Amino acid sequence: MQDRLRRLPKVQSVLDSEGAAGLIAAYGYDDVANAVRAQVQEMRDQILSASATDDAEVSIDAMLTQAEGNLANARVATLRPVINATGIIIHTNLGRARLAPEAIDAMQEVALNYSTLELDIETGKRGSRHAHVEDLICQLTGAEAAIVVNNCAAAILTSLTALGAGKPIIASRGEMVEIGGSFRMPDVIAQSGCVLHEVGTTNKTHLRDYETAIREDTALLLKSHTSNYAVVGFASAPKRKALADLAHKNETLLVEDLGSGVLVDLSPYGLPNEPIIRDVLSEGVNLVTFSGDKLLGGPQAGIIAGRRDCVDQIRAHPMARAVRIDKLSLAALHATLDLYRAPNNPFERIPVLQALAEPIDCVHARATLLSARLSTHDVIKTSILQTAARAGGGALPQQDLPSFAVALAMDGVSPDQIARRLRSAAVPVLGRISNDQFLLDMRAITNADMDTLSDSVTTTLTA
Ligand SMILES: *Cc1c(COP(=O)(O)O)cnc(C)c1O
Repeated sequence: MQDRLRRLPKVQSVLDSEGAAGLIAAYGYDDVANAVRAQVQEMRDQILSASATDDAEVSIDAMLTQAEGNLANARVATLRPVINATGIIIHTNLGRARLAPEAIDAMQEVALNYSTLELDIETGKRGSRHAHVEDLICQLTGAEAAIVVNNCAAAILTSLTALGAGKPIIASRGEMVEIGGSFRMPDVIAQSGCVLHEVGTTNKTHLRDYETAIREDTALLLKSHTSNYAVVGFASAPKRKALADLAHKNETLLVEDLGSGVLVDLSPYGLPNEPIIRDVLSEGVNLVTFSGDKLLGGPQAGIIAGRRDCVDQIRAHPMARAVRIDKLSLAALHATLDLYRAPNNPFERIPVLQALAEPIDCVHARATLLSARLSTHDVIKTSILQTAARAGGGALPQQDLPSFAVALAMDGVSPDQIARRLRSAAVPVLGRISNDQFLLDMRAITNADMDTLSDSVTTTLTA
């Protein structure tokens, strides 16, 4: 063993070798040295654990070849595009909403140039970054005032902290949601410094439960959209309007976390009504919070909209500065919101809404095309299935969206293995497994994705 250890190439002699010069020019001395050091260490560990069976001399050239592969792999960005064939349109793990071209252009302009981010161009004095989208949000929602922060979680935390820290707030046990990624409503409330007074039960909360809980110093009633699950059966909660009236009669506030929140009526497209922000505010909710990158179809952002004095109080709180939105997201959000204004039709311009509203015939046509392309390869067997896609992003949890998928099968290859191979493609393809079949769902795919999708699948599965 000692002999084998002694025969391992020295790191320095690999680095000083003629072949290393090119590698060092390409990757820099430090990275190459680290790669070679790691390789030598690995070989040493293998010898010590007696797992190295090959007793042959390791050549410096072989080490350099492997180092080059490792260095190249380490430089591929881990954040890169994938094809979303999961059938979930707003997929948090896959980056949620794709942006409209207008939003991308707006980001580019602001990224390339200095901008009026915090400049009042008329007076030449300092302006507010929030001013760029506030009017537009107010127009689209009927709110008196609005402020935008980093995401909806930050919007809730900041709102609660600014409006209720140190005071009791009232919320229903039936709405103590966990969104995922360790965002749990009771924890967020605790973090805000508000004192949570939970009322009602998991399935039923009555207006009188809130009523008896209200005290002189109650800061607000908090309603949360139970966006990623539904309590069905023997279940009820007070109507929003009744809750708002109760809050106002007692000189307190009703705040609602809507999570997704939509600006437009989705019912003409066969989708049930997610609460529309404008309606929620007109029913008397004083303040709403919602995400920029869910059904709105914009960049990551958290929008707080409602009564002016509440928004002013939030804007003045130090936490609002800590979670402020960046200029690129702000530019993208403005451009996205602009697509909701006449004469634009958001269903034709915003990718999330396009995917939701696309006629089933178009989805089917893509399935047919993909199936035809893939089945020219003998090893891939395809069939077309009717499926149920989802909006995702904690929106419309119960609602199946009609869709079609291409099921892939290969002799001697399990659905899991197909999934793994497609994830390893240069442009990874994410599908889903259902009833022991690997499916490529076409609802979240666009026509522009089709070439990349079929190339990725054929290259990976026929290799
Ligand atoms: C998604 C969601 C959030 C969190 O929004 P982010 O923008 O991801 O921070 C909060 N509340 C509800 C009800 C949600 O659905």
